[in-house]
Amino acid sequence: MPGTVAVVGAGPTGLALALMLAHQGRRVVVHERFDEPRPIGAGFMLQPTGLHVLDRLGLTNRVKALGQPLEHIFGREARRRRVVLDVSYADLKSPRPDGVNALGVHRAAIFQVLYDACLAGGVAFETNREIAAAADGRLTDANGLTGPAFDLVVDASGARSPIARDLLVRQGGRRHELAWGALWATVPWPGDPFDAMGLEQVYRGASRMIGILPVGARPDSPDRLATFFWSLKPADHDYWLRAGMERWKAEVRGLWPEVAGLLETIPDPGALTLARYGHHTLPLPVADRLAVVGDAAHSTSPQLGQGVNMGLLDALTLAEALDTHADLDEALAVYARIRRWHVRLYQGLSMGFTPFYQADGQALPWVRDHVLGRLARLPFAARILAATVSGVLLDPRQGPGERDDYPVLKAP
Ligand SMILES: Cc1cc2nc3c(=O)[nH]c(=O)nc-3n(C[C@H](O)[C@H](O)[C@H](O)COP(=O)(O)OP(=O)(O)OC[C@H]3O[C@@H](n4cnc5c(N)ncnc54)[C@H](O)[C@@H]3O)c2cc1C
Repeated sequence: MPGTVAVVGAGPTGLALALMLAHQGRRVVVHERFDEPRPIGAGFMLQPTGLHVLDRLGLTNRVKALGQPLEHIFGREARRRRVVLDVSYADLKSPRPDGVNALGVHRAAIFQVLYDACLAGGVAFETNREIAAAADGRLTDANGLTGPAFDLVVDASGARSPIARDLLVRQGGRRHELAWGALWATVPWPGDPFDAMGLEQVYRGASRMIGILPVGARPDSPDRLATFFWSLKPADHDYWLRAGMERWKAEVRGLWPEVAGLLETIPDPGALTLARYGHHTLPLPVADRLAVVGDAAHSTSPQLGQGVNMGLLDALTLAEALDTHADLDEALAVYARIRRWHVRLYQGLSMGFTPFYQADGQALPWVRDHVLGRLARLPFAARILAATVSGVLLDPRQGPGERDDYPVLKAP
């Protein structure tokens, strides 16, 4: 049983895992490239799966106090304002007992809650350490310095992890950079007529998409916030910059006139961050004294809103496997086996769904608006859609043939 663990990356996955392992009495050192661990990235949706992991850590109420409960996801087509996506968490077969099935969360909120709990739990942090490689339980940083040996290294350093990239290549896999990404900005919550309980999106074809997600508050201020998204190909970013803000704002207002006020809070291009998406899945997220979790193990487009939740599930599964199996290799094999099917299903769904929302052609958005939109109104479809976005289409910690240990996360 590993007494010392090096975790690479202080994102939500790395922090949650470090905390769980510290609670098990292990000595845990998180290695982070920044001078100080800090939140990075857009506001996001915590699904029932992610909330279940926070329940297990006893942290749900602290995140709930900052986040914004969400009841549905709503998509409209810009031209005729027809509703083409309407997912309600109330349609879940087993909604959560507290009635909060999903939360919009600012990154700083989940970061602060997990980071404070890590510090209180005795997790150590080594900052300013950009890790380039891991072998035999040792980490080598970008300056070529190799540190002491740990019983186990866990790579939680995100989608562009060099450790996971090496493992992927060794396993014959490949990462695909996706053509589409998004610009995002944190803005004050705009209030009416926007829906405080839902993610709202407006589409024109699949080449234009605007999203507004209420994300609650940062830990240091009571002001309610939202994350604003605009679909963009990274390759078109320079053109977008040259075209100027006014032209872009006019286009956004043309698609969704109600956002005019919100656009006033985005003064210049610097207020919008460009997110690039890639897709990869490690065939086997473990190796000798190494486990890979979160985006490092499986990255994809965030269209289905699962990434943080998948990382938290990885963390819980790995921590439980280490707790219940004295032999390290066996524990790593159990982690890989339990997460295998759920990760593959959601990676496949993300890959399959994304072109309906982000693509150049007209065919897929037409199918989305005219076929899928109608199918989604059938009674059985509502439950499947709710289960899909909730991350419970398949029990996340129960592959085919596994024991039924996790009643909270039952598939529909
Ligand atoms: C625009 C956008 C919207 C999204 N919306 C959602 C959503 O609604 N719901 C959802 O669940 N997910 C969403 N995601 C996906 C989500 O952001 C990721 O899945 C999640 O952040 C992965 O967490 P992680 O801890 O595995 O990795 P990360 O959050 O990427 O954290 C990695 C950490 O490792 C550190 N690090 C990186 N490289 C090194 C290195 N070499 N050495 C040391 N440290 C290193 C980083 O600084 C960081 O602290 C969205 C993503 C984007 C871009």
